[in-house]
Amino acid sequence: MATAARSLHDLGFREVEAVLRADGVNPHHAKALWRALQREGELDLAARDFSPPLKRWVEEQVGEGRAFFLDAPAVSSEIHSSDGLTRKFLLRQQDGQETETVLMGYDGRHTACVSSQAGCAMGCVFCATGQMGFVRHLRPGEIVAQVLHARRVLQATQPGKRLRNLVLMGMGEPLHNYDSVIRALDIISNVRGIGIGPSRISISTVGVVPGILRLAEEGQPYRLAVSLHGSNEAERSALVPASKKWSLAELIAACRTYGEITGKRIFFEWTLIAGKNDSPDTARRLAALLAGIDGHVNLIPLNPTGGFSGVPAGEAAGYEFQRILLEAGFPCTFRQRRGIDVAAGCGQLKAEKVARAR
Ligand code: SAH
Ligand code: SF4
Repeated sequence: MATAARSLHDLGFREVEAVLRADGVNPHHAKALWRALQREGELDLAARDFSPPLKRWVEEQVGEGRAFFLDAPAVSSEIHSSDGLTRKFLLRQQDGQETETVLMGYDGRHTACVSSQAGCAMGCVFCATGQMGFVRHLRPGEIVAQVLHARRVLQATQPGKRLRNLVLMGMGEPLHNYDSVIRALDIISNVRGIGIGPSRISISTVGVVPGILRLAEEGQPYRLAVSLHGSNEAERSALVPASKKWSLAELIAACRTYGEITGKRIFFEWTLIAGKNDSPDTARRLAALLAGIDGHVNLIPLNPTGGFSGVPAGEAAGYEFQRILLEAGFPCTFRQRRGIDVAAGCGQLKAEKVARAR
């Protein structure tokens, strides 16, 4: 029986070595292959000037109908913010699924924002991806390929600049696709490959409690961001249905455990929605809830989406919310929306394309 073809981008360095060894090629050739794939982002391995054994292996094993393929998603749409600092891509995977990847460049920092799933099962009411529902998990190679794409675009548009930061804040819930995400991040942070430092990689979760605890237990070196949006069970579960599975109380307990085990600061994301979670009372409850946790709160005004009637909190409410948290001793930033003119919210480019097609 023929086995399904595998993506070379799914493989870590050791696995590339093992694959070559199994095919009778000296594994020391893995360095050149890995370098081409991960460091240089090569998509046409057949055109490379590899040593003869590796060249032969590529000819025999990589390509249409062979054992291995490359993840090289096509760009199905692309938009830029008017200041050119945010570029958003809808990338088409091999099976036709489309996911979003964003390249941002502010304050001299270049950051890729990638997706971990096609769609999302968590159903947050304000999120365009949640409104689509879950389609499938992305493979590690599909996550790696998004970073390679963002880096290619950065090199083409701003030669000499390096992609140093990565956030898993695109479509999907990373901790619902734990194994593939961690495998992808191992590949992305490998210094002989893309080499983004683990402390510059953030995993953002809606609060998948077992995943948070696993990150801590395994000592995963990445940063953790937790999307909270509510200061008590009722407020949160109205916005985040996953809260019914993992209650706010359980989530906060998991954050405390995470902080105790890792000693690391947690970043809390808070989408500010007028009349839903932007009042001074909510801010005070939030400060009490987080007491004793080493945390940083990021306030972000809602990006309106088609399937949700809520509106962004006003600027005055945002600054007041921030003031209360700061006064209670929590670092807190109130980010004005950036790249708003490019439908920068999670899943919105895909949602707009679907809407246009109707
Ligand atoms: N599933 C993960 C990561 C992807 S969503 C999570 O929920 O954390 C990344 C961030 O975008 C989350 O903080 C989420 O709450 C926020 N977000 C989603 N839709 C938004 C919208 N319409 N406006 C503002 N923030 C939004
Ligand atoms: Fe999924 Fe995150 Fe969107 Fe919620 S906010 S639906 S968890 S992608």
